[in-house]
Amino acid sequence: MPRLGAHLSAAGGVSRAVSAAVAIGCEALQVFLRAPGRWAAAPLAQPEVARFRLAAREAALSGLCFAHAPYLLNLASADDGLRTRSIAVLVEELERAGRLGVAGVVLHPGSAGEGSRTEAEARCRSAITEAVERAGTRAAMLLVEGTAGAGGQLGRTPAELARLVEPGLRRSRPHAPRRSERQSTRRTRVGICLDTAHLWGAGYDLRGDGWERVLVEVAEHWGVAVPHLLHGNDTRVELGSHRDRHAPPGEGRLGEAYFHRLLTDARCASLPIVLEIPPGEGNEVVRASLQRLRTWASG
Ligand SMILES: [Zn+2]
Repeated sequence: MPRLGAHLSAAGGVSRAVSAAVAIGCEALQVFLRAPGRWAAAPLAQPEVARFRLAAREAALSGLCFAHAPYLLNLASADDGLRTRSIAVLVEELERAGRLGVAGVVLHPGSAGEGSRTEAEARCRSAITEAVERAGTRAAMLLVEGTAGAGGQLGRTPAELARLVEPGLRRSRPHAPRRSERQSTRRTRVGICLDTAHLWGAGYDLRGDGWERVLVEVAEHWGVAVPHLLHGNDTRVELGSHRDRHAPPGEGRLGEAYFHRLLTDARCASLPIVLEIPPGEGNEVVRASLQRLRTWASG
């Protein structure tokens, strides 16, 4: 059974998100390490880092916590100032996540805008290489996230995501680093995150043969059986519409038929799945959604 969790608010400090995760039964957690629409970040004080690490360990969430990079970043931008600023923030995020012991930082790879996709992919690829090299070996793994492809967004398929990462940096092992590997300086540093709502928007019919097509591509281009992280969102948009509107599982077009298959897929037995939905008062919507998914898994 996959590890089911959610993106939760880190307001008041990242360690608070761990307590909230425990309270609603999350087995995986994702947070923002800074406000997603802002460049500046509040400093991450060492006592808070220690609180987070301890809380995650006690909650058995070590290796199952993720951070999401801010939305402003565009590593593919033709605007040198924006691209340089994006690289700098990504380096900081990877370093901060590394201090926290977070397993991976999720990144929307960026957009070509109206320009050439090929040139944008090349800019994105060199920016990713620069960021992971500058962040060093103590930093968290980077997870490039698949997109629905709206407005020139790069990374609509596992193959397109792979083109954004130099082969030597692509991680061909499951997400959880082994102890020996954590100490190694040669670890591969970029993995793949997919989002079920984005896949649907990009044209993968997950209610039909789309999920199999996704996993075949992940294996072919990334050398792993399943992505390193999955955002398990339902969606309100048309298949292949290149739009992105998340919904709680069961309130969109994927529904029980897809999620039952996903949750009982033996290949996904240790896959972390994170819901990204408005959490509601006291995270009630998330709690109810996790419960619904667990019911579907056993049904
Ligand atoms: Zn995302």
